[in-house]
Amino acid sequence: MKTIGIIGGMSYESSIHYYERINNQVNKIAGGLTCAKLLIYNVNFEEIRTLILKNEWIEIGDKLASIAKILENAGANYIVIATNTMHKLANEVQNQIQIPLIHIADCVAKKCKNNNILNVGLLGTKYTMTEDFLINKLKQNGLKVTTPKKEENINEIDRIIFDELCKGEIKESSKEYYKKVIQNMIKENGIEGIILGCTEIEMLIKENDLDIPIFDTTQSHIDAIVDYALER
Ligand code: GLU
Repeated sequence: MKTIGIIGGMSYESSIHYYERINNQVNKIAGGLTCAKLLIYNVNFEEIRTLILKNEWIEIGDKLASIAKILENAGANYIVIATNTMHKLANEVQNQIQIPLIHIADCVAKKCKNNNILNVGLLGTKYTMTEDFLINKLKQNGLKVTTPKKEENINEIDRIIFDELCKGEIKESSKEYYKKVIQNMIKENGIEGIILGCTEIEMLIKENDLDIPIFDTTQSHIDAIVDYALER
């Protein structure tokens, strides 16, 4: 079995799911008392968030790359970044290590394609929705990607992530807000599926909430991480 190196803590609410489900899925497949060999470096997200708000992306990239190196030196065979937004720095991280980085967008794109869904909507933080680091990776995988265009929608989706979901708060009003934005994209852009492109959104939006399939980046990432660990 391969050893997984996880850069986590962004937020810890979603990293809990990575830890629990990776172990659970490995055990289901391998049986007995088998669990995953994994290393988690949990960052202090308050420090990272402060740097994000100051636009200090170079410093964040340096920090994440040095954490990846620590995990590599500690015996990780591959690295995963347990957040979509920090994939903005995926190249910076990959360039500093010799082991592979499993990109979250490749994992979710594979799920979409396996389900023959190519026209998708994407929700995430404002960085994920307005910059091209994740969108381009999805497009390279053959997907057509739509994001909300109205600034008020982008800001509110982003606010709900950081003010509520990253703190473990699940509000019915926020669920309704997300559903309304998704329904607009179905009506206006004909999206056939929605990518939950932030590792906390799955806490808010569930399969039964919508008429179209949901592609959750957290679960897609976890499935790929498990396959890679078990060399399947
Ligand atoms: N976990 C979130 C994501 O998947 C946002 C937190 C972050 O800024 O990394 O994008």
